[in-house]
Amino acid sequence: MVRRTNQAPFHPPLTRHRIESLFTMNKLAFVVIIALACAASASSQTISAKAREIQNSAIVIDTHADTPQRFLDENYDIESTDPHDPGHISLDKAKAGNLGAEFFSIWVDPETNQGHFARHTLDLIDSVYEQAAHHPDRMMMAFSVADIERAHHEHKLAALLGIEGGHSIENDVHLLRDFYRLGVRYMTLSWSNTNEWADSSGDINDPKVEHHNGLTEGGKQIVLEMNRLGMLVDISHVADKTFYDAIAVTKAPVIASHSSARALTNHPRNMTDDMLQAVAKNGGVVQVNFYNAFIDETYRKAAEAQSKDRNAAVAANAEKLKAAGKTVSYLDSDRIEREWAAKIPRPPLSALIDHIDHIAKIAGIDHVGLGSDFDGVSGATPTGIDSAADLPKITQALLDRGYTANDIRKILGGNLLRVFREAERVSREMQGGR
Ligand SMILES: [Zn+2]
Repeated sequence: MVRRTNQAPFHPPLTRHRIESLFTMNKLAFVVIIALACAASASSQTISAKAREIQNSAIVIDTHADTPQRFLDENYDIESTDPHDPGHISLDKAKAGNLGAEFFSIWVDPETNQGHFARHTLDLIDSVYEQAAHHPDRMMMAFSVADIERAHHEHKLAALLGIEGGHSIENDVHLLRDFYRLGVRYMTLSWSNTNEWADSSGDINDPKVEHHNGLTEGGKQIVLEMNRLGMLVDISHVADKTFYDAIAVTKAPVIASHSSARALTNHPRNMTDDMLQAVAKNGGVVQVNFYNAFIDETYRKAAEAQSKDRNAAVAANAEKLKAAGKTVSYLDSDRIEREWAAKIPRPPLSALIDHIDHIAKIAGIDHVGLGSDFDGVSGATPTGIDSAADLPKITQALLDRGYTANDIRKILGGNLLRVFREAERVSREMQGGR
């Protein structure tokens, strides 16, 4: 889930609107453009037998999709076969990309859910369980490394839960434990909002927000309790100081469930080379975010330039709905975000591969993976990546850059499994077992 104030989204391939505007060009230019577009899409869609074999033999894990917003607000059915559905995740799309496990993001908008963060967290958790319950032959809830492996053997999508934003626990460690019992296996210490115990990168420069210089003492205790429970500590979204505090206190490897590299794209949501090396030292893993404003500097600047007007449009839409007595859902804002994102050209897939490559070079091949942010970026993913079905293109691109099959399997999920397994071991150890 991206922050709405300083980022932007999206660009659909050739929507009806864009095709119509193309028809107003002179005919020759139109023919040339279509021919180029076809050539580009043909080359980007060629998956070699070797890439296909690697993809199909790997346990492919994505650590961040915001699809639960759709389950809850839109009654979206993950078994949807609607060819016009703009979503990134469906059971068919997951199967086409051999996606084995998805961490569904439990994200509670801190503005529209004031006073009932935990209740909305529970509603979103339920929405994922309901999907699994309705499609038991194709999908299963998963709570451990063993569950992910079992789902893989049974050819089912493993559905895991990750809470995005520490505000969900309402400063109550009892709730943290309850969420663990309900199956939550990671928690992002903060979302874009600083909470009572962790500073966020999203508002760190806002003087109106009360900050803590990283994690409070209570925040450090929450990290240790997460270690004890076996809930992965997720440092995506947090302020830099919060990151270093978490790294210093944690007894288990951490994850960045959906973050990219700041050396390539200068966004505060991304990680500096020093942070990448600190994650490597900690034994953790950085799961690269696919969002265009995090992987392409030109896109990021364009999104930033339009942010004032875009935010005004989102706010005006919300006011209009409120005036009509309607509640404003994530999807209402997402619709406007998509229109604005469509004004910025999508970067090529190579932009995303550059981030994977950079993190593999700086942190090491054992510390990089995939954290798409599917269904959370208003469609703003690089060219060719329109859903989970396109994941094999990443494998092909890594092969083209000289990565070995073994390296690629680590990126696709092996590294995350190693970190998860280690977090499970630390949990057993802290609970007095072996
Ligand atoms: Zn997010």
